[in-house]
Amino acid sequence: MKRKSLVAGVIGIAILAAAPLYTHNPYYIHMIGTIMIYAILLFGLDIVVGYTGQVSLGHAGLFGVGSYTAGVLFLKLGAPLWLIIPASIGVTAGFGALLALPALRVTGPYLAMVTLAFGTIIQILINEMDFLTEGPLGLKIPKPSIAGVQLDENSFYWMVLALMVISLVVVDRILKSQLGRAFEALRGSPVASDCMGVSVYRYKVYAFVISAGFAGLAGCLYSYSEQYISPNTYNFELTVLFLLAVIMGGRKSRIGSLLGAAIIVILPKLLDDLELFRMVASTLAVLMAVGGAIAVSRKMTTVRAMALPVVGTIALAGFSFWLQSITDWRLSIFGLMILFVVYYLQDGIVGFVRGLLVRKGSGGGRAIVLASGAHKDAITQAASTHTGEDLLVAKGVLMQFGGLKAINQVDISVKRGTIHGLIGPNGSGKSTMMNVLTGIYVPTAGAIEFAGRSVVGRTSSDIALSGIARTFQNVQLFGEMTALQNVQVGLHHTFHSNIVDIALHSPRHTREEAASVERGLGLIDFVGLADLANEEARNLPYGKQRLLEIARALALDPQLLLLDEPAAGLTAPDIKELITIIRKIRDHGITVILIEHHMDVVMGVCDRLSVLDFGQKIADGKPADVRADEKVIEAYLGGTAA
Ligand code: ADP
Ligand code: MG
Repeated sequence: MKRKSLVAGVIGIAILAAAPLYTHNPYYIHMIGTIMIYAILLFGLDIVVGYTGQVSLGHAGLFGVGSYTAGVLFLKLGAPLWLIIPASIGVTAGFGALLALPALRVTGPYLAMVTLAFGTIIQILINEMDFLTEGPLGLKIPKPSIAGVQLDENSFYWMVLALMVISLVVVDRILKSQLGRAFEALRGSPVASDCMGVSVYRYKVYAFVISAGFAGLAGCLYSYSEQYISPNTYNFELTVLFLLAVIMGGRKSRIGSLLGAAIIVILPKLLDDLELFRMVASTLAVLMAVGGAIAVSRKMTTVRAMALPVVGTIALAGFSFWLQSITDWRLSIFGLMILFVVYYLQDGIVGFVRGLLVRKGSGGGRAIVLASGAHKDAITQAASTHTGEDLLVAKGVLMQFGGLKAINQVDISVKRGTIHGLIGPNGSGKSTMMNVLTGIYVPTAGAIEFAGRSVVGRTSSDIALSGIARTFQNVQLFGEMTALQNVQVGLHHTFHSNIVDIALHSPRHTREEAASVERGLGLIDFVGLADLANEEARNLPYGKQRLLEIARALALDPQLLLLDEPAAGLTAPDIKELITIIRKIRDHGITVILIEHHMDVVMGVCDRLSVLDFGQKIADGKPADVRADEKVIEAYLGGTAA
């Protein structure tokens, strides 16, 4: 698979490189060049939109920053190309940080609004700062020179191609590294990312800054390519076009970015030329009809679902022949296409084609054969200083939601090296206690000390890195990532390589990546999922997802592991397996807090128990004593345990 795409890539690049040799028409060369420049920007935008799942309406502004950095540096300082390119990338990345630091504190529509405002401000600044930018008059820039020789249209085209290929490789490497996994993880489950030590906020900002860097490079090349830049290029329409390109081409795909770039460059030209529009609309109608027929015959979709898009495209083709002139209809057709993408092509063109090629349910899950015995050390021994001392001490913890005291003055102390059960009826505050311990909630009052340090007020990722790992009652996996990648996110803390290591595939990064695969597989093997390592997490059965969460939590090398109802949804044999796993975890010196409703599990493995009821602790002690406690029987055991 990897080899095939490499071969396809090389052929594609060769065709692009040869383009100036078979078309001597500079118009087409310039057009393909522009597509490649947009593609560079879209590679970056896809990191933000496709991988981290954020919306940015500020990328036209960032593109403008890149263009004007190049233009101003050249015209005011006569800077050479080798300086202008990195400067454009650096300055734009800086602006990206300026935007991201405040903007990424908010999400959804608010983020869209903040980034939109940023784009508008950039455009106004370019307009108003005429001492640098000449305002609305714009700047004229000649083609760049290398070693004193000015590049002609063709050599410039090759330079753009080279930079596009480099960008593609670098983006691909970033996305396949721990950085890319962090980006994808925070989209899959922000709360789980934070609890795996991957700070959601920090990695959103990183993604934005990296993405801005690529926008800067694209902007810089654009100003040389057009040889003239003016403020109204970088407007709202361009920003929407960029977003549309990523979604239409297909998110999380470099081919998708290239396709998207081609669409946004060609589409406006297409809508200028009626003959061309008729041709494309008819082709589209035929493709849609054939594609629809294939999809229906493979039972991937129903006739009813396909009817509207097929009829729609045929109607569009008919409409194109009825039209006398296209100019008045441009915007409406454009709007229709957006609607079409939003309804029918949510995974973009690449996603749609992939769907046709890969039959549903065939699953890509190749089993990885494990060398037996190679993964004995998957779990690191927790620093086992004297078992028996208190690892976690919570005193007078109060967690109030409005008038509700979900936890009310609870004291709990957990001894190192033990399995501590936390039981109680539904709604008694058990999960809330875990959320307080892992920094998801800050307690209203009370003190919590873990390994001699206070937990209260620290961020979830900070607490996670200091040694508290957890699973979630409602499973929080990174659904679109494989089982192995999920565990590798837990291993994020083992990486020290930076973005330069990643871009160059330095020995340090290669070593760390290989080590994380090896340990990841070991941990997956430990929870009995060895043959599912390459399966996407969302495709695993529910019970296996819970086991995978345990493997991911162990990847953090925790001293304390919090398990929130790990047996829920497991079959009886799986529960037996789970008990063995929990015991093994403790035998590695890791302390466990276990929330569980299955009393056989609780009584079988716990060294101590604390019982909550209506947010208050009503009992604490050895399992046998707790079981005999009057209050506990009345509040809890009497009702649920047979
Ligand atoms: P348990 O895990 O023991 O079943 P929880 O800790 O989930 O119970 O919930 C304890 C109580 O706190 C419940 O009444 C629940 O509705 C309430 N609660 C939990 N989280 C929140 C929240 N974020 N906002 C408001 N109420 C909450
Ligand atoms: Mg709960």
